[in-house]
Amino acid sequence: MSDRLNPFAIAQAQLAEAAKVLELDPAVHEMLRWPLRELHVTLPVRMDDGIVKVFHGFRVQYNDARGPTKGGIRYHPDETIDTVRALSAWMTWKCAVVDIPLGGAKGGIICNPKEMSEGELERLSRAYIRQVGRIIGLEKDVPAPDVYTTPQIMAWMADEYAFLKGYNEFGVITGKPLELGGSQGRADATARGGLYTVREAAKVLGTELKGATAAVQGYGNAGSFAHSLGQELLELKVVAVSDSKGGILNWDGLDPEAVAAHKQKTGSVVGFAGAKKISNAELLELDVQVLFPAALENVITSENAGRIKAKISAELANGPTTPEADQILYKNGVYVIPDFLCNAGGVTVSYFEMCQNAYDYYWDLETVHQRLDRKMTAAFHAVHEMAQSYKVNNRVGAYLVSVARVAKAMKLRGWV
Ligand code: GLU
Repeated sequence: MSDRLNPFAIAQAQLAEAAKVLELDPAVHEMLRWPLRELHVTLPVRMDDGIVKVFHGFRVQYNDARGPTKGGIRYHPDETIDTVRALSAWMTWKCAVVDIPLGGAKGGIICNPKEMSEGELERLSRAYIRQVGRIIGLEKDVPAPDVYTTPQIMAWMADEYAFLKGYNEFGVITGKPLELGGSQGRADATARGGLYTVREAAKVLGTELKGATAAVQGYGNAGSFAHSLGQELLELKVVAVSDSKGGILNWDGLDPEAVAAHKQKTGSVVGFAGAKKISNAELLELDVQVLFPAALENVITSENAGRIKAKISAELANGPTTPEADQILYKNGVYVIPDFLCNAGGVTVSYFEMCQNAYDYYWDLETVHQRLDRKMTAAFHAVHEMAQSYKVNNRVGAYLVSVARVAKAMKLRGWV
């Protein structure tokens, strides 16, 4: 992977830009450039055909100055240690930007869950906890779902952890099913939180969202809820959506329930009746008002950034835009809501889940929504104002907010 597209090199370059503006002390900067700890694990799993397959995985704990580390676990064939490092850094900034008392971490296993049976996935998930269990814990590091991991996987992991400890400790992992200590509102929290920031962005830009056209790249948890909730909460007209197999477009709008039913049946949004097939690349360049990159890293690069026509790019994915692309978007007036702000709703409700687990007392959906809205709205305005006052793009603005908070915690603790 070239350095230009290596997510960890990108995360370090983004930090360097903020460090320059903040005139960050060199020791603080160096501390924040690297993970505090990382664990590499090797996982033997008996597959359905009786043969043992050996998988490789990681857990990176980036920085815990502000509290226990927090972050999801990804199952992906292209997972690398550098991707996990970058994602754990972004989790650090994410928890700081919404001002929750947690640090950042991330985990990953190199595997293709699409080619694995339910039983194989369960055995892999349990094997991961048998190795990683020694470094996680509700006061140390709390995993959650991410790309291709689900509440069911969190349930297996919580169960395996309970056997390691000898008792239930549901707060060790979030994004669990409701029946096992999950929180109301966790399932759609990433998209919902992102939509709250889009609502606030429209206010500061003076844009009307009712009937505004939108395109969603990626149809996993964040993307599919961005489609349905975008319509429900903001009355957006979602005209295009995509997944790893391709995209679909209908300028009259796409019905979220019908598209979800089609994907459920066929495994992809592609082939949906009444829509034109387009590629993921074409989707990104559509002349829509709001674009939601909601899949993976590095989809908006120096190559296509100049052709992005959306007024707002709401980054539900982690790391969708490269630094070179950021500069082009900023110059062209595209209002970017950067990833670790836009998609912080997931970890915010994960934090609510941890609070509820700690008290064993559960909130209603309305309470979760109100508290999420308050957090996202405050974070959005902190970033927007920072970016405006320093005359930098919103990503640098978000770094300025988060890095200052983490640096302050490290200083108070006497680390630097
Ligand atoms: N995986 C999500 C993220 O990237 C959620 C993390 C969490 O809930 O801990 O923000």
